[in-house]
Amino acid sequence: MKVIIAGGGIGGLTAALFLHKAGVPCKVYEKVPEIGHLGVGITLLPHAVKALDEIGLMAPLDRLGVRTDRMIFRTRGGQAVWDAPRGLKAGYDVPQITAHRADIHTVLLDAVAARMPAGTLTLDAAFESATETGDGVVATFRRADGSTFTDHGDVLVGADGIHSAVRRHLNPDEGAPRWSGLLLWRGSVDWPVVLDGHTIINSGGMTRKFIFYPIGPGKTPGTQLMNWACVIRAAAPGSPTPGREDWDREARAEVLHPILQDFTVPETDIRAMVDATPVFWDFPMCDRDPLASWTRGRITLLGDAAHPMYPFGANGSAQAILDARMLGQICGQGGDPAAALLAYEAARLGPVNEVVAGNRMGGPERVIDEVEARIRDLPGQRFDDLETIMPLAEREAIVNGYSRIAGFATEQMR
Ligand SMILES: Cc1cc2nc3c(=O)[nH]c(=O)nc-3n(C[C@H](O)[C@H](O)[C@H](O)COP(=O)(O)OP(=O)(O)OC[C@H]3O[C@@H](n4cnc5c(N)ncnc54)[C@H](O)[C@@H]3O)c2cc1C
Repeated sequence: MKVIIAGGGIGGLTAALFLHKAGVPCKVYEKVPEIGHLGVGITLLPHAVKALDEIGLMAPLDRLGVRTDRMIFRTRGGQAVWDAPRGLKAGYDVPQITAHRADIHTVLLDAVAARMPAGTLTLDAAFESATETGDGVVATFRRADGSTFTDHGDVLVGADGIHSAVRRHLNPDEGAPRWSGLLLWRGSVDWPVVLDGHTIINSGGMTRKFIFYPIGPGKTPGTQLMNWACVIRAAAPGSPTPGREDWDREARAEVLHPILQDFTVPETDIRAMVDATPVFWDFPMCDRDPLASWTRGRITLLGDAAHPMYPFGANGSAQAILDARMLGQICGQGGDPAAALLAYEAARLGPVNEVVAGNRMGGPERVIDEVEARIRDLPGQRFDDLETIMPLAEREAIVNGYSRIAGFATEQMR
């Protein structure tokens, strides 16, 4: 079986490496003519790290990124509602890792270049259309200069992100992604180490949130590269987006100043952190309604192309990596290519669509929304006894329940 993959992001490249491990030849076609150092921080949850370990990539990512040992959820007013160990400290046999998206991408690109035949990855190749033939599929790609070329494979996998052209080919009437009405700002900056240097701190619920965590070493002693993201509600869910959902739209600090005044974060000055960030980006937080099927004949979808999701719960990259592993395993078993794609879809679509739905409700951070809703009428929105506001069992049901849905619950969480 020869597999054609449209899209050389985290999902597409990981799929190529799993297919290679299974002995299945493949080619990856990526739209951009040049790979840029784009994006900011990404969380690799333990189940994704375990998958990456199976293709020998845990060690380089562990060296580049930062192990997450602890996660704190707070109200916007600064009161802790959840404070728990993560990764190895929580009993997993692999770490949870946060890293710069570009570093993760580079590790994958290097592995493809080192292990797979020359010419596996073609840049400047935007998927445009596909035609199924009796014995496979012919995909047409367009270069930036307007010229086109084709390749023939047994199957085509669309791993081409939230604006997937392969998904559009399969579902021409679907339209644009659906905006949640939430705006997301993201940036990273060298910043003095906070707490143990291995903690994710998340303040505020779904519609007004500030989250930060380290993703690598800083340039000077005592600093780390700190990733931050801020979310606010700007419109009702389903409103028209304020611009295309691109990952590289630059934003301005002044917009955030009044918003940041609402947060109390005891560990560090988040306003100074934002002001010190040389450049950062905004992104209208979008997803798409789950599809009933990703596959038609010899064509299927993977990663954000199949199931774009809100970043609550930090599962976008993890679910793409799990798709990639499943695709590699199933294609490696041989047999009828169309049946293999259906088997891949049967294993992945149901569980991932549950994650998409869970993220629409705020993911594990929904526990903060619940506590904030219950304290709304308290003077100064402060509480002395969290247990009376929301007992631990209820908080665990939300946070650990999400881990179960997303497929990375430990035995104790089940
Ligand atoms: C530039 C960029 C920056 C990002 N930054 C962040 C971030 O800071 N935080 C975060 O949580 N997530 C970020 N993401 C999204 C995140 O990488 C994904 O949610 C997740 O890793 C799933 O990966 P994916 O491979 O399915 O999609 P993506 O990582 O989006 O990869 C899709 C790939 O397909 C390519 N492509 C698009 N259209 C075509 C086409 N027609 N033909 C061929 N190739 C095509 C894209 O250039 C891209 O390389 C970013 C994505 C991109 C592309």
